[in-house]
Amino acid sequence: MSSYRGRFAPSPTGPLHFGSLAAAVASFLEARQSEGDWLLRIEDLDRPRCPAGADEHILRTLEKFGLEWDGAVLYQSRRSHVYAEALERLQGLGKVYPCACTRREMADSTLAPDGAHIYPGTCRAGLPPGKKTRAERLRVDEASIVFVDAVQGKVIQNIAGEVGDFVLRRADGIFAYQLAVVVDDFEQGITQVVRGADLLDSTPRQIFLQKLLGFPTPAYAHLPVAIDSEGEKLSKQTRASPLDPDRPVPALIAVLEFLGQSPPVELTEASLVEFWRWAIAHWQMAHIPRDRAMRAPEGYR
Ligand code: GLU
Repeated sequence: MSSYRGRFAPSPTGPLHFGSLAAAVASFLEARQSEGDWLLRIEDLDRPRCPAGADEHILRTLEKFGLEWDGAVLYQSRRSHVYAEALERLQGLGKVYPCACTRREMADSTLAPDGAHIYPGTCRAGLPPGKKTRAERLRVDEASIVFVDAVQGKVIQNIAGEVGDFVLRRADGIFAYQLAVVVDDFEQGITQVVRGADLLDSTPRQIFLQKLLGFPTPAYAHLPVAIDSEGEKLSKQTRASPLDPDRPVPALIAVLEFLGQSPPVELTEASLVEFWRWAIAHWQMAHIPRDRAMRAPEGYR
């Protein structure tokens, strides 16, 4: 096993777009420059949001872009038993409680900066009489979580005040992203997480879970998220332009520029192999802009 293990973990809700390509490229270059492994995980727990064939489409696009992963692809949808075991361990620690609150009942609670509701702790002391369990929540501590992100710098979050007790298993029975990602990063032996800054506010929750489960905390680097002209994160919903798998080099160059690198003009004419040779040799994480969001270039949003 190589000592550096990075990963790319797309949710297959649609074809790869510029923003997801940026996360793939940055995590890949960090891993390859350190002669490490780069693993692929398909985060398809939320099946209703994942159209049939979207995962295959992502894999084929990555191949066409020369983003070759190591080992077998991990599919979250096949791993519910593993998440169930982690939930049981947390229950054994007395850290989990059932919650009966509906979305509507939480409508009046304070909003966190990301627009989510801060859970007011309604079911913390037990389910209100006559109410049935919907979700399972994790009881969080008062202590703040502090970590240093390789791009965004020092992050401090008081989970209790800024998020509240958070969901581990949703009302529809689906395991929450926060739990699955922690279990999988551990099982895949991930040492470095490079991903979009839309997940920066989730990282303290993940670190908190790692501590409870006795897992090591990987190093984190959160890249600027690619947004469109309206300031929305590129996604299937914003109808982000899909990438052209038959012309990978121009999109890869645009990604390098977006990430603060300075590819020479001649690289536009390069083959895919030459492109990657240049990129692995010249990649510098320190040049990535310290922004949480940046406009994607024209033609890619
Ligand atoms: N599946 C998440 C996404 O596509 C990324 C999760 C992660 O990198 O931790 O936005």
